[in-house]
Amino acid sequence: MDRVISLSVGEIALKGKNRKYFENKLISHVKRVLQGLPFGKIYKEQGKIYVEVDEDSLNEVINRVKKIFGIYYISPCIRVDKDMDHIKEAVLKILEDIKDRDKVKTFKVKTNRADKKFPIKSPEFSRKMGAVILKNIEGLNVDVNNPDMYVYIDIKQNVYVYTDKIKAYGGLPVGTNGKGLLLLSGGIDSPVAGFLMAKRGVEISAIHFHSYPFTSERAEEKVKNLAKILSLYTGKMRMYSVNILDIQKEINAKCPEDQMTILSRRFMMRIAEKVARENDIDVLITGESLGQVASQTVESIAVTNASVNIPILRPLIGMDKVHIIDIAKEIETYETSILPYEDCCTLFLPKHPVTRPKLKYIEKSEKNIDVEGLVEKALESLSVYDIE
Ligand code: ATP
Ligand code: MG
Repeated sequence: MDRVISLSVGEIALKGKNRKYFENKLISHVKRVLQGLPFGKIYKEQGKIYVEVDEDSLNEVINRVKKIFGIYYISPCIRVDKDMDHIKEAVLKILEDIKDRDKVKTFKVKTNRADKKFPIKSPEFSRKMGAVILKNIEGLNVDVNNPDMYVYIDIKQNVYVYTDKIKAYGGLPVGTNGKGLLLLSGGIDSPVAGFLMAKRGVEISAIHFHSYPFTSERAEEKVKNLAKILSLYTGKMRMYSVNILDIQKEINAKCPEDQMTILSRRFMMRIAEKVARENDIDVLITGESLGQVASQTVESIAVTNASVNIPILRPLIGMDKVHIIDIAKEIETYETSILPYEDCCTLFLPKHPVTRPKLKYIEKSEKNIDVEGLVEKALESLSVYDIE
């Protein structure tokens, strides 16, 4: 009798030729998150991935594996061979593990006979095992329509017995869907945007803009901490950091005050595009959500996009703030995001920012400053951190 966990991978996305590629990526993520914990073989068997684990570290293993995208369900199983007595023992043992046992009054056995050579058909096998449970455990009854609990028995090369299907995030394994550069501020939204794109398989790097010494080192530390939390889901992440103080000063001195936000946003995009191109990254990602603040109007988005040629993904665009906050809490970035350190955008913050910028006026203002020169100059301040 061995302890394993089974990982169910998404059926639709993983069909066809890509399946192997996705599964191997997933396995490499499992190895990464389990570093430092005892675990045995990791292997595939008829549609699921299995990891041999120690009973003592089971909870920790599950907590870590839960953060891997591409996994839909996790089940702690007992694995035995196809011997009837061993299967019976496994069934009785798995019932001992159930939390809140006194709340469970009814059950149903569900057998999945993937190995068609196994002599007993699924319904009959379920009945047999149901009888074993009834005979050995007091206070449990069968309910085939609405049971409190299912006892699953998967008959493959090995036999797997389990009762629990723990929901994970789903999505696609990180690294199976290209690379994106996340514009990471210290706020609530951008970490959530990074999380959602990583969940679709995008490998994430981050870039943060600061105005040191007007913004503090602690503010930068906060952003690194956010990147660290994200990296629990994404794996190690590269973070770039760029000082845009000179740009902001120049805009402040030579452009209309109400255009500060949109002009700095265009500079952020230009710098991010350069960093992306140099590092073989194909898209930018932001935490913008339509109408959330003055600068997040369709007009602003149009004017922002016009500054670069690289696609910009905005996974939060149609989400309400309450929903974004719910996700931030769930992924545990919220508490860090709300720490009150200053952000570069609050510097020179216009009292009445333009909400419907027109590209021709914005471009006219940019004639007053040396855009290319300022971008190049800012890039000289680029620092790179590897976050794990
Ligand atoms: P967030 O909660 O992510 O800070 P926000 O609601 O404050 O977003 P804005 O300040 O308009 O909105 O920023 C919109 C997006 O622009 C952010 O989600 C982020 O992707 C990017 N951004 C803003 N400031 C910075 C910064 N200092 N460094 C990197 N990216 C930034
Ligand atoms: Mg912000």
